[in-house]
Amino acid sequence: MPDRKPVVLAVIDGLTPGAFESADLPALRFLAEHGEYRRASSVFPSLTPVCLASIVTGTHPDGHHIPHLVWWHRGEHRLVEYGSSFGAVRAAGLARSLRDTIVDLNAKHLSRDVSTVYETLEDRGLTTAAVNITCYRGRNRHLPTIPGVPAVYGPKRFFFYSLYESDRTGAPLAVRSRALGSIDAYAAFVGRWLVTRDGFDLLVYYLPDYDFASHAAGPNATPQALARSDAAIAALLDAAGGPEAFLERYAIVVCSDHGQSAVTEVARLDVGGDLVTASNRAAMVYTDEPRRVAEQLDREPSAGIVVFLEDGRLVARRDGDEDLALLDAVPDGRVRAAAALANPNAGEVLVSAAPGFEFVDLAGRHHLGGGSHGSLEPADSEVPMLTVGLGPAPASITGVAPLVVEHLRDA
Ligand SMILES: [Zn+2]
Repeated sequence: MPDRKPVVLAVIDGLTPGAFESADLPALRFLAEHGEYRRASSVFPSLTPVCLASIVTGTHPDGHHIPHLVWWHRGEHRLVEYGSSFGAVRAAGLARSLRDTIVDLNAKHLSRDVSTVYETLEDRGLTTAAVNITCYRGRNRHLPTIPGVPAVYGPKRFFFYSLYESDRTGAPLAVRSRALGSIDAYAAFVGRWLVTRDGFDLLVYYLPDYDFASHAAGPNATPQALARSDAAIAALLDAAGGPEAFLERYAIVVCSDHGQSAVTEVARLDVGGDLVTASNRAAMVYTDEPRRVAEQLDREPSAGIVVFLEDGRLVARRDGDEDLALLDAVPDGRVRAAAALANPNAGEVLVSAAPGFEFVDLAGRHHLGGGSHGSLEPADSEVPMLTVGLGPAPASITGVAPLVVEHLRDA
């Protein structure tokens, strides 16, 4: 069944198209030479929890309801903070933030009106596996490896930073030395174990260490980190008996969730009395007066494109200029802006940071001199998208789940 091969979906967090295209690394280069490649667009805000939910559900934020790294929960009258920084997590309450990030994003915040790729495929009797991806909702209950942490529902084979492990693989602890790539090394160990056993129809293989390095060093200053991501993918090829043997057995998607921009200036966004939730290069304002707030932001240098709805109609402003054509200058701008605003958990005004700027988070943290993302601008919004054995690469990260589901239709 050559066209119904099991699929590996490898997500290298924060990998830019430029870094991918210029990478001279054995696994990525071999796959690129055998596949179909294009630059694809992310969603808005181009931040990991939002993007991973889009990759896993095949919807923009209006479908999956994850709005930002930090947002106001209208039903519970409180902030949700998924880990903008350790300081922000502490400011929002450590236990609460960890629960929001690890458990409730999946159990409560992710819309029940959409299915994850794990749910869709396992409802058909297929086996899905996920390693370290924070959007994992599935049908199988998993107990934690340490006491005091709730059980969660995930794919049949589920490995999450040593905290949930559906199978005993002998993998070392995930979070030992983050800067040296210990999380991707953990993923590689588990991935090798899964490929050796042919243990899945879909493996979602999430590699976050590259983004961690890019935030610290800037978008294009992290070749060693990319070499470690490449090694984690090479581990899968090796486990299958080499690159050619791997492609005889599996189809693969390699993509990223968002891009990365250099941060040269930081700003604290303040619009008077209304609540602002800001992190990285996107902010939301919860307000009864969206037009007043948007016009006030005309004078704010850190604000790039500002969008809101007026009588149900999308409005875009930048520096006092009000014109939807502003959105045509950024990837998939009108679709992404409209979908972000239509998310019931989003603020009424969404702010895409101007190039070079980053908004400080709840604790005042930022990545000045390093990298950040979240805006509608091309640097944050374009991602590499490579498919091998699956036909043309999709134009948006929302196209990945439908592509995989269609490929496995008669598996
Ligand atoms: Zn990031």
